[in-house]
Amino acid sequence: MIDRREFLKMAACLSASFGITQFPGIVQAALKKIDPASVPRLIYLQGQSCTGCSISLLQAQSPNAVSMITQYSKLSFHADLSATSGKQALDLIDDYISGRAGEYFLAVEGSIPWGMPEACVIGDKPFADYVTAAAQTMSGAIAVGTCATHGGIPAAEGNLTDAISLKEFYLRKKIKPLLIEIPGCSVHPDWVWKTIIHLVQVGLPELVDGQPKMFFSRRVHELCPRYHDYQQEIFARKLGDKGCLFKLGCLGPETYADCPTRWWNGGQTWCIDANAPCIGCASPFFAAKKDFPFYTPFKQNKV
Ligand code: SF4
Ligand code: SF4
Repeated sequence: MIDRREFLKMAACLSASFGITQFPGIVQAALKKIDPASVPRLIYLQGQSCTGCSISLLQAQSPNAVSMITQYSKLSFHADLSATSGKQALDLIDDYISGRAGEYFLAVEGSIPWGMPEACVIGDKPFADYVTAAAQTMSGAIAVGTCATHGGIPAAEGNLTDAISLKEFYLRKKIKPLLIEIPGCSVHPDWVWKTIIHLVQVGLPELVDGQPKMFFSRRVHELCPRYHDYQQEIFARKLGDKGCLFKLGCLGPETYADCPTRWWNGGQTWCIDANAPCIGCASPFFAAKKDFPFYTPFKQNKV
């Protein structure tokens, strides 16, 4: 149960988050009680993505997604959540990207079609133009998900758009913004939201190769409850068997992520607990080559 005061606060924040600026009376009054300076504004743009990371972010449980976009951040635009559309939505994005609307962080989900900018547009402008312009005005950028951090599936070998990651895009443009990279296909909600909480409460988290060390410093393999089976050479022969999944193509030895200790779906399960090999969704090589394996042993495995 939430009381009336909490409801008003939440409604006020949500209306702002969803781009409703002409909200009369009671909600506007409640909005004045929130200190917008204390939380970062987020402009969340999607490039070549499937929106899976956004869906995952909305599954956050502790804190939940509403708290995350109202108390710990101020989500000022997200295409899937915005109540505005058309020119009003485009003007809202432009106000931020131009710097007129004040400080903000840019969150980018999806890759960028370097070789075919018209393959991904917002309104009638290439997505790449927004990302380029934002580099001049944003406080920093957060690359959300493996498409944004490494290119992911849109950048798979043979793709026609020359899709690239946000880091690669800025490298080619010779721009060096503050960039936090959070891989995963999809991304774990904690990895993104807890990075933002860290930004709000402590400051920039320690990064290793651009990724928050607190989530990506150890391999899935090192933390895996089946590591003992691996050492004893007790291997599963088919999906559903007990034992280490290495011979079924598990990429835990190649993948840096804390899934074995964090778990997914609010702590209910995670890939290997569900008897599925780690498919390396948070790794740089995820889906990069045509012969990238999902359920066959990866010949480059080095343990
Ligand atoms: S190979 Fe996979 S299943 Fe086996 S111990 Fe490593 S991470 Fe766990
Ligand atoms: S265990 Fe591997 S495939 Fe599963 S979510 Fe974690 S990094 Fe991705």
